[in-house]
Amino acid sequence: MRKDGALMVTFQQTQQPVCCHGCLAVLNTIQSNGLVEQYLQSKQINESSSPR
Ligand SMILES: [Zn+2]
Repeated sequence: MRKDGALMVTFQQTQQPVCCHGCLAVLNTIQSNGLVEQYLQSKQINESSSPR
């Protein structure tokens, strides 16, 4: 994992960390196309634990 700057994307009105610009673009595309629900159902993002 790289640590040269954390990438964050606003997803579902929440700041989500992403590993690369690829994932950032994917999430933005998902939101633009209204595929958020389908994405969440297939991915099931954990929004409960956010270690700091
Ligand atoms: Zn990535």
